[in-house]
Amino acid sequence: MPEQNNQPTLPASQQQRLPLPLIILIAVNIIVVTTVGVFVMVSFQRTRLDDEFYQQCVKLKNEYRVDVEAGNVDIFCTKREWWQLNPKFPSPQIQYRQGVENVDELEKKRAGETKELNDRIVLLTQQIKSLELQNYDPQDIQPLNYYTALTTVDNLESQLKQKQIEKDGFIRNIEKVIATYPNPPAEFVNYLGSYKQKNIQQQNLLFPEITAKWEQAQTTWGKELAANKLSTSVSESNFLSFFSTIKPFTAQEFVELSNKKTGADTNISREDVQLFSSLAANQYVQQFASQQGYQFRAVYTGPLTEIQGERLQSDTANAFLAMQQAANADGISLSLTSGYRLVADQAELFKQRFIQNSTVFGGPFSDEQIATGLADAALAETLKTTSIPGKSKHHSGFTVDIGDGSVNSKIVAFADTKAYEWLAQYNFLNAKRFGFVPSYPAGVAQIGPNPEPWEYVWVGEEAVK
Ligand SMILES: [Zn+2]
Repeated sequence: MPEQNNQPTLPASQQQRLPLPLIILIAVNIIVVTTVGVFVMVSFQRTRLDDEFYQQCVKLKNEYRVDVEAGNVDIFCTKREWWQLNPKFPSPQIQYRQGVENVDELEKKRAGETKELNDRIVLLTQQIKSLELQNYDPQDIQPLNYYTALTTVDNLESQLKQKQIEKDGFIRNIEKVIATYPNPPAEFVNYLGSYKQKNIQQQNLLFPEITAKWEQAQTTWGKELAANKLSTSVSESNFLSFFSTIKPFTAQEFVELSNKKTGADTNISREDVQLFSSLAANQYVQQFASQQGYQFRAVYTGPLTEIQGERLQSDTANAFLAMQQAANADGISLSLTSGYRLVADQAELFKQRFIQNSTVFGGPFSDEQIATGLADAALAETLKTTSIPGKSKHHSGFTVDIGDGSVNSKIVAFADTKAYEWLAQYNFLNAKRFGFVPSYPAGVAQIGPNPEPWEYVWVGEEAVK
């Protein structure tokens, strides 16, 4: 039909018009999808919140773990999945809120104790800062709950204990310096006296003050001492640096320092050396020497440097030359009278001196006489200045015997020489400047031979700082 064939074309919008049932179907679909989407989003959000509350709850529980275990407070935390299977239980959110309430109640009961702990934290922190010579601002400290405060106090107390040990060491060192050098400043000594009267808490808070006063006192005192012309090679300015960096030592500490060095990097000799043909005489002499404090020493077997007719380890040789030069500049003559000795050298030296002393004390003695004690006087005299082989500090290559260069000076009179005075004044400051310490200074308890003012061990400059 032409009419039908010529039917006018509809506008585009009308051409696409959908049938009503389809439109309804689409609308329903949109509503369903949106509803499901919203539902999924809401439930996702709730899951997230529940997880968060669970995490918070666990955190709280951990913080109060001790109290939870002791039954002081109830905190239950369960995950969402578990709660969904057991819906009679409160939700993670309610559990967390309940936990917070319970904790608040507990804290209220403990308010007094918690305050005390927090006050203690403030005081401990202040004391630690004082001992660290740092400024202190109480506003830096936020009050903590009971359990955290309790742990914090424990932690701070052990920190403070450690700091107190360091502080005590510092004060002991000051006391040693004061005891070691002449004319300590009276004002500071008085202050130190009154400081020591205080209790530990007060001392800890005063620590920055005594540190500042000590610094001042060192400067004035050091200048005074330097002005006394300790040595021409020591000026006022470098004296102050020696004064504050080179440590003073007691006689016993000098011995320990030198013993440590003579035992380092070397082989320890452990065998008695045959001095006499009879076993009995040998055993007797070894035992006699042990009673006098002689002990096995390390024996160095590495390369040696020869200076002035003696052999030494090279660092020791260099340090001796530098010390000799500094003494020379002060018009003091130091000579190297003995350095490294082999065990065999020491055996020869010992036998030679023993024979010399035997003639003075009623000898010569047979092995049998030695073994029965008849040579004791000659033995004792020999051991005063001469070690038995294997037990001499000279086996290390770090040990020097020093003379004053005069041909006629007897070694035992060294303590009366200008050279000794130069080495020994101010707690052996000139010896220590070059890394040497006295081997057996006067004032040592009955260990080792008698004081030997001429013997020094090179321990290195770092060891005396
Ligand atoms: Zn010696």
